[in-house]
Amino acid sequence: DLHKVTRALISVSDKTGLIDLGKALEARGIEILSTGGSAAALRAEGIAVRDVSEVTEFPEMMDGRVKTLHPRIHGGLLALRDNDAHVEAMTGHGIPEIDLLIVNLYPFEAALARGAEYDEMIENIDIGGPAMIRAAAKNHAFVSTVVDVADYQPLLAELEANDGATSYAFRQKLAQVAYARTGAYDAAVSSWMAGAIADPAPRRRAFAGEIAQTLRYGENPHQSASFYRDGSARPGVANAVQHQGKELSYNNINDTDAAFELVSEFLPGDGPAVAIIKHANPCGVARGATLLEAYRKAYDCDRTSAFGGIVALNGKLDAETAEAITEIFTEVVIAPGADDAAKEIFAKKKNLRLLTTNGVANPAEPGLTYRQVAGGFLVQDKDTGMIGLDDLKVVTKRKPTDAELADLLFAWKVAKHVKSNAIVYVKDGATVGVGAGQMSRLDSALIAAKKSERMAEAMGLPEALTKGSAVASDAFFPFADGLLEAAAAGATTVIQPGGSMRDDEVITAADEAGLAMVFTGMRHFRH
Ligand code: 5GP
Repeated sequence: DLHKVTRALISVSDKTGLIDLGKALEARGIEILSTGGSAAALRAEGIAVRDVSEVTEFPEMMDGRVKTLHPRIHGGLLALRDNDAHVEAMTGHGIPEIDLLIVNLYPFEAALARGAEYDEMIENIDIGGPAMIRAAAKNHAFVSTVVDVADYQPLLAELEANDGATSYAFRQKLAQVAYARTGAYDAAVSSWMAGAIADPAPRRRAFAGEIAQTLRYGENPHQSASFYRDGSARPGVANAVQHQGKELSYNNINDTDAAFELVSEFLPGDGPAVAIIKHANPCGVARGATLLEAYRKAYDCDRTSAFGGIVALNGKLDAETAEAITEIFTEVVIAPGADDAAKEIFAKKKNLRLLTTNGVANPAEPGLTYRQVAGGFLVQDKDTGMIGLDDLKVVTKRKPTDAELADLLFAWKVAKHVKSNAIVYVKDGATVGVGAGQMSRLDSALIAAKKSERMAEAMGLPEALTKGSAVASDAFFPFADGLLEAAAAGATTVIQPGGSMRDDEVITAADEAGLAMVFTGMRHFRH
């Protein structure tokens, strides 16, 4: 199943590694066919190249839209070498055998990432490249197809190991990658167009990913798993740099994402903020004058759960905060940077993983979320909903004070990132009780208050920190009971969407309890 490589076609937009590859192929006596820019780059380094236009006897035309789309090229890629009629067709029509295809495509994804205009996006749709890749990959019985610069070295190693030939298994693996590449490419084009025409429900959708990491296992050890990047440049776990610590696990990745997305709600201009996550829910979120203060306040919300947690910061990790974080066992720390002193402190904790991102993520950036169901998947806009002071409607006799308003908006931002039913108590810019994922809102209110009481006992405080707090509910209170539970825990002010059939009842109960309550008119379910 070895097939000798005698002729290669090279047509690459990304010229990285091109010259070394060209030289190595030339040294093996492999003839190189190439398109305009690639041929020029190779020739400039003294590598002998034959122009594709010489083979096709057609010039490259229409701004490069038509270069390699020709039977003399596609015949050479597709012909079965062990089929007499195919071989006859090649000889009869002057079609050269092509045993190796090196192509990387017009940089459509890069144009997308820099927000290029419509016409520029269109010009970045490669036609001839994918056509050749698909042809060569179909004919992997004979042809090797390389679509990634990362595969140049393995290719040369394969040629070296087999005296200038490639094995069937090698070509087959390349073909699988090749089809994933053309599939991903068209998926990117199609997704971009769905956005461009603002169609929220296109008749067909395509998705693609590129492996970021093969995971040791999934959510549980008996499940296999892997992690893929979708090509977006959004700062977060997929595009972060890991400085130290063990490999991230499936659950680590999921929780790190939740942590960073939550802390990104607090823009650097809002001051330092820290979120601590356990099982995708926050067990402490706070802002402070410094990251250290924010971390300490977040930790104090629920010291028990913070153990083995994931910490996300909205600013560069400094030495003092790093020192404080190492006081307990933490799985992962993610931040938009870390200074050298902080890195040194972490270096002493071998198992602690430190990730730095390329900046903070913009919470308002639109995007889609996907959820799998048996036999299909759900697609929706990301929850980028945001509430400001002007959106709040005071519904009680008492109006919240400015300090209460600040805590209400803080609680609201956190509630958006807590699994429903979410109840979040906040005091002085820090969560002091988080109730998550209960099937009844009343239970979420109760659990959060209970945890806060337990924390106060453990810390030797005279009373639970929920006394005098602001409380957020991610969706309306269907009955007054949940609200009354929050009031019993000591909440003095409430933020919730409103919109229940029994709003009147709930407002009356709030007035009787002396609460100040605001409605947002927006819900933040998260399931
Ligand atoms: P070069 O820089 O060598 O002039 O062009 C290389 C790029 O052209 C590659 O990304 C390759 O996929 C693309 N390409 C090759 N043939 C064709 C074609 O016939 N039409 C289009 N639109 N692109 C092509």
